[in-house]
Amino acid sequence: MPFKSLQNDIFLPRHLTTWQWLFEDPTYSPIARFPEHELGGYTNAVTKEKLNWREVKEAATYISTALVKRYGLKEQDTVALFSQNTIWYPVAMHATTRVGGKVSGASPAYNVEEMTYALQKGEAKFLMTHPNSIEVAVAAAKNAGIPKERIFLLEGELSGYTTVKDLIAMGKNEAEQTPYWSIPKGKTNGDVCGFLSFSSGTTGLPKAVMIAHQNVIAQCLQIQPITPSDLRRVLAILPAFHITGLVHALHLPALINAEVIMLPAFTMKAMLDTVVEYQLRELLLVPPILIRMVRDPIVDNYDLSHLRRFSSGAAPLSEEIIQLLAKKFPQTGFKQGYGMTESCSCITAHPPWLYDYKYAHAVGTICASTTVKIMKEDGTEAGIGEPGEILAKGPQIVMGYLNNEKASKETFDGEGYLHTGDQGAIDKDGIITITDRIKELIKVKGIGVAPAELEDCLLGHPKVEDVAVLSIPDEYSGEVPKAYVVPQSSQPADGSQELGRELIAYVRQQKVRYKAVKEIEFIDAIPKSASGKILRRVLRDQSRSGVSKG
Ligand code: AMP
Repeated sequence: MPFKSLQNDIFLPRHLTTWQWLFEDPTYSPIARFPEHELGGYTNAVTKEKLNWREVKEAATYISTALVKRYGLKEQDTVALFSQNTIWYPVAMHATTRVGGKVSGASPAYNVEEMTYALQKGEAKFLMTHPNSIEVAVAAAKNAGIPKERIFLLEGELSGYTTVKDLIAMGKNEAEQTPYWSIPKGKTNGDVCGFLSFSSGTTGLPKAVMIAHQNVIAQCLQIQPITPSDLRRVLAILPAFHITGLVHALHLPALINAEVIMLPAFTMKAMLDTVVEYQLRELLLVPPILIRMVRDPIVDNYDLSHLRRFSSGAAPLSEEIIQLLAKKFPQTGFKQGYGMTESCSCITAHPPWLYDYKYAHAVGTICASTTVKIMKEDGTEAGIGEPGEILAKGPQIVMGYLNNEKASKETFDGEGYLHTGDQGAIDKDGIITITDRIKELIKVKGIGVAPAELEDCLLGHPKVEDVAVLSIPDEYSGEVPKAYVVPQSSQPADGSQELGRELIAYVRQQKVRYKAVKEIEFIDAIPKSASGKILRRVLRDQSRSGVSKG
């Protein structure tokens, strides 16, 4: 039997676009519900530039008018946003969806090849970027056939480029503003794509995930009832192009009328300064930053006694770090969300009654209006406490992959369930724990070995700072685990041979024989995506031959 959410179903408006929902509708729009002086909005933590929701609406209306009337933007055209976080990012995003376009996010760290791929796969017709990304943007746009006149700057100025502020001026000059776009008759907001986000899903190359207007609206309405009422200010350091940022920093705050404090570039100092200056009570962070919250000595220079909660997502957080967080910040609670791009962020999340480090190992309970099936390896449905692959169905599950029927069919089954490639279990109270990522399974002599289990084990060793475990081919066993280790900085640079042997022995002592780590390689940092996930493919490419063999 599938597992149902314990929460009340959401009421889902099916006729609204995200624009109508947040900026026009009297029931949902903060502009309709709050007086001007109480409106939240987007604030740049460094420059203090600020736009409240009404100002966002006004600017986005002008920009969309200019895009339609001067540049010929049409319904379902893709506008690629390729920029570090700026308050103009969401404005451009809302401008695009206002007139029925699709927004495609891309990491500002992409090189020309990756960006070309993103533009081509997302069929982008327009590109909005930042002066810091202009070189890659121009080269990729050329490769993808986007003319220079359709490259716009979200911030700053560069000769020869039209800026978002120019677009606002153009829109203002028009005699009439382009009306906002509505869902065509006979369709719902679940049939219309508003956003593209790249994900490799359970396998293969990154694919353009088609996210419907309904998916974003549903996810915000699913999270709203379990959002604490003290959340008046939201820190946005997670990248806007990632699904977590798109939902939790760019849309949900408007629904709850919060102020979004945007940090253009991440450093621990800039983040901590902002946390203190704005007295932020809840921090939505990814595991690598949470690790720094307990390990980086700079944190001790700040009085963070006002902090009430850490929120984690996008990747697993080790038990060790959870315990260190609880010890270092005893006044805080903890919550996390679990999901993927294909589920428009959360499938599960911690409700307020689980904001305790006691439940931090878990990813919370099933979101409202969502059903989860846990499938065992033998193809039968798991019961309470039995691990298996998590499958999820609900209004946040996306439309599929753009122009990739095959991957869509493999990932979203005929009953509407998304295959996550993650392994988890549910307990009798409906609390879900992720036990592994099946997507990265190592098969040693045909037996599954979970990299996460070995990573956790090695992280428990006092000389290990960070670690990633990958599968390598092995003549004898088919595949064996290899560990890429970042040693604690106190370790002597020439001691790697000895430490390698020590770590291999350490794993042998704690795990059954077939889980033994065959090779250790020492590296300076584990490559991670902006959202905190280990970039296993990058790591594999960087790999030299192992320095210590078991
Ligand atoms: P993405 O599409 O980039 O958001 O990646 C989604 C994947 O990240 C999931 O399928 C999980 O493997 C992993 N993930 C996301 N959130 C969590 C979490 N809270 N705990 C463990 N793994 C997570």
